[in-house]
Amino acid sequence: MGKVLQIGAGGVGTVVAHKMAALPEVFSEITLASRTKSKCDAVAKKIGGDRIKTAQVDADNVDELVALINKVKPDLVVNVALPYQDLTIMEACLATHTSYLDTANYEPKDVAHFEYSWQWAYKKRFEDAGITAILGCGFDPGVTSVFTAYAAKHHFDEIQYLDIVDCNAGNHHKAFATNFNPEINIREITQKGRYYQDGKWVETGALEIHKGLNYPEIGERESYLMFHEELESLVKNFPTIKRARFWMTFGQEYLTHLRVIQDIGMARIDEVDFNGVKIVPLQFLKAVLPNPGELGENYEGYTSIGCRIRGLKDGKERTYYIYNNCSHEAAYKETGTQAVSYTTGVPCALGAEMFMKGIWKKPGVWNVEDFDPDPFLARLGEQGLPWHEKFDVDLEL
Ligand code: NDP
Repeated sequence: MGKVLQIGAGGVGTVVAHKMAALPEVFSEITLASRTKSKCDAVAKKIGGDRIKTAQVDADNVDELVALINKVKPDLVVNVALPYQDLTIMEACLATHTSYLDTANYEPKDVAHFEYSWQWAYKKRFEDAGITAILGCGFDPGVTSVFTAYAAKHHFDEIQYLDIVDCNAGNHHKAFATNFNPEINIREITQKGRYYQDGKWVETGALEIHKGLNYPEIGERESYLMFHEELESLVKNFPTIKRARFWMTFGQEYLTHLRVIQDIGMARIDEVDFNGVKIVPLQFLKAVLPNPGELGENYEGYTSIGCRIRGLKDGKERTYYIYNNCSHEAAYKETGTQAVSYTTGVPCALGAEMFMKGIWKKPGVWNVEDFDPDPFLARLGEQGLPWHEKFDVDLEL
């Protein structure tokens, strides 16, 4: 049992708060803090029962964070703000000897580039302080990393080929919307693609490589190769991997809008002058796009995310597919958010539970596949994300 300080009250944060609030035997006290306190108050009110205290904090400011952590005295800080805040929150955790968990790796505001090196550089300082940092505990990264660790532990002597497949077959009935923070989402998708092959990273054009893949209970969807952060830690932690790739589905409408957004300069992340005011076009675009946290009401259909793995077991080749399908409608009914927020928030709260129970707790900075996958997967279905396995099937990849 312990106290938690959650930072960030967006779509993902709403789910995390719901899930943690439902477990008073694990989370004795929950403080929800964000830049805009009224959003925290709204989440707390919806959950009800005085389970959640709220606070205002600018998570770009280490001193403000330290003051809040010293006041709340949490055992764990759960960061579901934006990737820009990862390092300031980790600094504040170090200053106050408090453990840390997040769902997305650090990204500098002025370059759309994400990699773990900045956060891995904190390993020794976290070790020396005797505190734990758990990185990337959403769905992807997060559950996909745990799925890979589970496959390595139980089903393979050697994982050789890993393909992470992320399908959103839902329909929100909007012309264009992103499923999580639009700024972070568009920065991610418009980057060059990258995959790992024979010890090297191979770069591709943005969404250049694509093919139809079949998803369980959904059917065929065009899937695009892109870089995703868990590839970086998984090829390091499972060195038998010869090739690792990440695929995500996009509809034609989405891609057409994205192309137009880029062509007209609205995906730019540098400042432009507008009537004497400096604005970043992509941040302005975020302000006029639908709020991902409020897409849930008319969202129909499923997400399907999993790992397709080929490798060796007892000297023989084996294929294995482990995945979860999540219903947008069911996610909305339970938490008022859509399935992308839900599939990120549930594992985040579960990782926090693993920490509170002392199961995922060791000084240093860790990716989720560094921990035992079994207790996490034993709880994942109960927490709303049941998972399934298929053996020796055609992986299509
Ligand atoms: P939202 O934009 O909906 O919410 C972000 C929250 O962080 C808001 O409450 C926002 O406050 C707050 N915030 C932003 N900047 C600051 C700051 N400087 N100080 C304090 N609070 C701040 O994002 P999502 O909920 O969609 O995403 C949250 C995180 O989850 C992101 O890091 C995203 O990358 C990650 N994610 C991870 C996935 C995974 O599977 N691993 C999948 C999807 C998302 P305000 O309302 O005032 O702007």
